[in-house]
Amino acid sequence: MRHFAVVGSGPAGFYTAEALVKAFGENATVDIIDKLPVPYGLIRFGVAPDHQSIKAVSRRYDKVAEEAQVRFVGNVGIGEAVSIGELKDLYDAVILAIGAPHDRKLGIEGEELRGVVGSAAFVGWYNGHPDFADLDPPLDGDSAAIIGNGNVALDVARILSKTHDEFAGSDIVGHALDALDRSSIRTITIVGRRGPHQIAMTPKELGELGHLAQAEPEVEAEDLPPVEADEALEPGARKSVSHLRDFAGHDDVGKPKHIHFDFFARPVRIEGEGRAERLVVERTKLDEAGQSVGTGETYAVPASLVVSCIGYQTPRLDGVPYDERGGKFANVDGKIADGLYCVGWARRGPTGTIGTNRPDGYEVAEQVAAQMPAGTDGGKTVGKGLDALLAERGVAATSFDDWRTIEAAEAAAARPDSPREKIVRHHEWLKALGR
Ligand code: NAP
Repeated sequence: MRHFAVVGSGPAGFYTAEALVKAFGENATVDIIDKLPVPYGLIRFGVAPDHQSIKAVSRRYDKVAEEAQVRFVGNVGIGEAVSIGELKDLYDAVILAIGAPHDRKLGIEGEELRGVVGSAAFVGWYNGHPDFADLDPPLDGDSAAIIGNGNVALDVARILSKTHDEFAGSDIVGHALDALDRSSIRTITIVGRRGPHQIAMTPKELGELGHLAQAEPEVEAEDLPPVEADEALEPGARKSVSHLRDFAGHDDVGKPKHIHFDFFARPVRIEGEGRAERLVVERTKLDEAGQSVGTGETYAVPASLVVSCIGYQTPRLDGVPYDERGGKFANVDGKIADGLYCVGWARRGPTGTIGTNRPDGYEVAEQVAAQMPAGTDGGKTVGKGLDALLAERGVAATSFDDWRTIEAAEAAAARPDSPREKIVRHHEWLKALGR
């Protein structure tokens, strides 16, 4: 018999647990441990609330959690309630699937001003992450700047642009919906340090900006390379650029909000009296390697809200080697050390879609199975060791049944047109569980 701990209950964690169950059958148990009382990580707290079809993948994860060999153990912070060393003693293998929940820093002057937030915080706020329930981003100005040319920048621009009715069927949290209803932001500038051919935006997500009820995207025609140059792009990127060409070709149809793409602009500093008022950028051009270089010309983009969407980092954990440059755990093909592995963004860095985590989890599960084949025994005891430690420390873990109770409470509290009203604070979770 083998016993595994998967730390993190997002996509990477669940795909790994699924793969371990397939590889070991009844010859192993898998504890999926999460510091939050509820499962799904990025699916619940990262994927945009108006992208319900992507969030529906959690139903597949439910099936994994319902397997007899699998337990969800929520409300247990690794590195807090229990250390990595203790987990390694308790389990045959520990697989870290903690994602990359921390914002990368811009490293520019003014980053600490009120009104400057990272995408992890902003996305967490509208998705009901408890750490950001009180973020209260200032939406009282008329301009926002979004830094970065990836899909997260698109999510943030779209959420800031949608009308109340356009959130129908989404699970955006009530506090964010109310604040967005009152928002006076009319101009959203998406700032990219490189050009249209270097965007990391996928076509479906970019195309959505062209169908917003009250906002229209704008691209400066002179920022676009000659159309023949698109031939060199791979098909997805070509399609994305064709959306930008459409946006450049559109006449203003008088919608009240504008999403302006400002390419070739590198953030230099954020200025304002006690709060963000403007983002100063430097005009850039591309060098031969396709990287941005400053031209010395600077100008200001008005912005009382600045959201940096420039990527994420995995937090450090005591005793786990860390790759500073990559912002992830140091690993070779997912292996950190004997009995210690990582998957997902904690392994690869913050890139790829939800589905990318599936082969990633399966690959690491295969490695584990090669190290300790099904049918062998490592002398560990079924999850009891963890339970004893938690009891000793007064940590009240949540189970998958508890999650079902919370889920039912969220569904019961749903607003009209919303599948659920997420519970976002620890004491409210405990209340829903009658504790
Ligand atoms: P991303 O795709 O890596 O994009 C980050 C952007 O930030 C890039 O445009 C990058 O520009 C820019 N950037 C980095 N450092 C910067 C700096 N110091 N100053 C200015 N700009 C800077 O990251 P992401 O948008 O956070 O997305 C993370 C992953 O999640 C991606 O794989 C994404 O596709 C995925 N995702 C998917 C969906 C979806 O499918 N619906 C939604 C959200 C996220 P350079 O290229 O010049 O470095």
